Amino acid sequence: MAGFEIRVKAARGDGGEAARAPTQDGPIQISKEDLLEDRYHRLRLIHWWDQERLRDATVVVAGAGALGNEALKNLALLGAGRLVVCDMDTIETSNLTRSVLFRQRDVGRSKVEVAVERTMDINPDVRAVAVEGDLRYALGLGVIRRADVVLSCLDNIAARVYLSRHCYRMGKPSIDAGLDHLNGDVYTFAPPEGPCYECRLKEPDRKEFRRRQSCLKLSRAESSLGKVPTAPTIAAITAGMQVQIAVRLIHGLPVPAGRRLGLYGLSDVFFDIALGVNEDCPAHGWLDCLAGREVIETPLRADRSTLDDLLAVIREHVGVEGVLSLDDDREVIVGLRCAPCSVERSVLALAGALSEDDARCAGCGEPMAPDLRSRFDGSEGLGDRTLAELGFPPLHILRGRNEATDREVLIELTGDLPLYFEAPEGA
Ligand SMILES: [Zn+2]
Ligand SMILES: [Zn+2]
Repeated sequence: MAGFEIRVKAARGDGGEAARAPTQDGPIQISKEDLLEDRYHRLRLIHWWDQERLRDATVVVAGAGALGNEALKNLALLGAGRLVVCDMDTIETSNLTRSVLFRQRDVGRSKVEVAVERTMDINPDVRAVAVEGDLRYALGLGVIRRADVVLSCLDNIAARVYLSRHCYRMGKPSIDAGLDHLNGDVYTFAPPEGPCYECRLKEPDRKEFRRRQSCLKLSRAESSLGKVPTAPTIAAITAGMQVQIAVRLIHGLPVPAGRRLGLYGLSDVFFDIALGVNEDCPAHGWLDCLAGREVIETPLRADRSTLDDLLAVIREHVGVEGVLSLDDDREVIVGLRCAPCSVERSVLALAGALSEDDARCAGCGEPMAPDLRSRFDGSEGLGDRTLAELGFPPLHILRGRNEATDREVLIELTGDLPLYFEAPEGA
């Protein structure tokens, strides 16, 4: 008896007449696609494998460092069809020990740009799109909405928290991987059920996250990021587990949701720890999961449409009192003020995106106080500014509200869709 069994599969998509013929009882039947030794042949021999599911899958990969490189390499080999990769850094020489996609000659280039290039070079069937920037601001919720799974391949708590909140809002499964020396761990979350990434944070981590947010809502220089001691071996193992769980998830097979799996690399001990929902988790206490809510797809585009355009669409749906409400999303700095010097400066920036140095008072040299807005009704004098200028990423989902009637609407900047996903066939 051979070591494996050939299963008959009803071909989907381009299967010919023979493949579509009803299966008869009897000895082994071999479908046309099993005989064809194409790129995916050995994968299809795994009895539950469905290459078309992988081909049609959308995976967001947040971070193109050591873990992101390994995850992308695996996803490319697997033929995972659409990848959206987000990172803000450039390649440094010290990345080269852990980054299978990067070469010496890439030093100084953008990580995402090189990563998507090499991913598609490994497998031209894969379409990978680069989102260059801080995922807190650059990754629109509409991208997460279309993902089958989100891989968190990040190196700091703040970015993980934001990604986790994006996933919580959209009710998307995410798989977070982390490295430290020769240790690696993988957390699988399936919000809004069960725990989320923030549930596991201890008070010092939360404090560190809040410090980064700082009371001024201006970003502080983040100096030590990405300098975790680690090795390519554990990066390969950990991202391998991460992607293997993602493959099962894409196939609808059971995954270790709400568990922490990993390896202590110095003692070869694997661990598997159940996680619980933390009563004090800010995400569970404060964020709305919007999955299942209607999202209105509109031709609005972040770089072309203005605040007035958006308000007009909101008001079509909730009435003329409709406002843009950013409550649990982001805050916008519309001005800076130094009271002691009676100096004001007009700026337009996202809270957290402006550094203290950018906001220093010309008079006294102290950081000026930001004028923060999380609600726009059109009276701010910013109606002709584009949504991108206000700090909203392409394909974002924004919330409109009529405060009198409590009617709410979710508006997507669907005009940005072609930036990430090809137009459907025939469109
Ligand atoms: Zn939580
Ligand atoms: Zn001053």
